[in-house]
Amino acid sequence: MAQTKKRSARLSAAVSATRDLVEDLVAGSHILAGLELVDAFGHLSARSDVNPRHFIISRSLAPALVTAADIMELGPDSEPLPGEKRKSFLERYIHGEIYRTRPDVKAIVHSHAPSVIPFGVTKARLRPIYHMAGFLWSGAPIFDIRKVRAANDLLIRDRPLGEALAGSLGNCTCVLMRGHGFTVVGGSIAEAVFRAYYTEMNARLQLQSEQLQGPIEFLSEAEGRGATKVNQATMARPWELWKKQLAGK
Ligand SMILES: [Zn+2]
Repeated sequence: MAQTKKRSARLSAAVSATRDLVEDLVAGSHILAGLELVDAFGHLSARSDVNPRHFIISRSLAPALVTAADIMELGPDSEPLPGEKRKSFLERYIHGEIYRTRPDVKAIVHSHAPSVIPFGVTKARLRPIYHMAGFLWSGAPIFDIRKVRAANDLLIRDRPLGEALAGSLGNCTCVLMRGHGFTVVGGSIAEAVFRAYYTEMNARLQLQSEQLQGPIEFLSEAEGRGATKVNQATMARPWELWKKQLAGK
C-alpha cells in the first residue's frame, strides 16, 4: 500500500499485473479468511494495473490456501485467457460485470458472511450504524435473483446474472444478495477488504441494537460521507495490521 515504485516484474507471463498487486491479492485473500469473512467459499479480485480491462483472481480455491502461483487473469467477459487450463470460480461474473460497469472499482470481495444474510431476506435495511461503516451511507440494495431468473440456484453463474447484479449495485459500495451473501467494491484491495469486514461488523451491531429500545439512530448521509473520507485516509493502518497478523500464515 505504500506508494513505493511499482515493480514491473511479473510472477507469471500469464498474468498481466504488477507483482505488488498480485502480492496484495494473496495477502487480501488470507486476511479475509483470517477475519472469517470467507471460508471455503467467497473470493477477492483486483482490476489489473497493467491491462485495466482485465482482472486477476485466484483459481477456484479456498482463499486461505491462495498463493501467487494460483492467480489467474480473466478477460472482460470474465473468462480465462486462451490456453488457461485451471478452473476458475463459477461466480467470476460477479467481478467481471462490476468492473465493466464501474470504472472506479479496483477491487471486489464476494462473501457469505453470516450476520449480513438476515438483511437480504427481510424488510430490515442495512444502514450505517457507526463511523467504520460510513461507506454504507449510499445504501445496500438487495439483489433478488428470482426477479431476474425464476429458475435459479442463487449463484451468479453467467454474464446476464452478473450484469443484473452490477445493475442492482449501481453506484453503491455494497450489494446484498438475497439468500446468498453480499459483494463490496473498493478503490483498492485494502479498501474492498476493509469494507467487507465493516459490512459484517455493521450487520452484527445493527442486529444487537435492534434488541434495545429504538429507534436506532443511524449515521446521516453527511456523516457517512465524512466518515468515509477519514477512513480512506487511514486505510493503510488496518491493512498493515491485518497483513502482519493474518497474511502468509
Ligand atoms: Zn457466492
